[in-house]
Amino acid sequence: MGSGVTATCLCGMNTSIIIGSGGMANSMSAYYFPCLCKHCCAIVQVNFLAEQKQCPKCKTTKIIPYDDPTLSGDAGERILSTHTVTNWMDKKLKRKLILTDGTYKCSQCNQMTLRFADNGYRWD
Ligand SMILES: [Zn+2]
Ligand SMILES: [Zn+2]
Repeated sequence: MGSGVTATCLCGMNTSIIIGSGGMANSMSAYYFPCLCKHCCAIVQVNFLAEQKQCPKCKTTKIIPYDDPTLSGDAGERILSTHTVTNWMDKKLKRKLILTDGTYKCSQCNQMTLRFADNGYRWD
């Protein structure tokens, strides 16, 4: 099960990201979570269940997940996409990947003014 979130920033950044697994067929082999790619300077969707976590565009492994403290500004209140956090994922990843509606570091302007919002897109 997955969901879509939109990342927007005052600088004009506006991108859609998928969180969770992208469908029944690959639900046991894929779990997507937004990361900052240092090389692309972009928010990218990374499969956390892949053998090597890497940027889907440039293939670098120099990526930072968006739940990293260095990427978060004000702590948000509402946690986005909790329904995608499963027990199975806990066992495999040994941690929870959590995204809130607080502020995050923007990949484009480097300010803590990026926000994620649930865009309501869902699939099983
Ligand atoms: Zn990249
Ligand atoms: Zn920005």
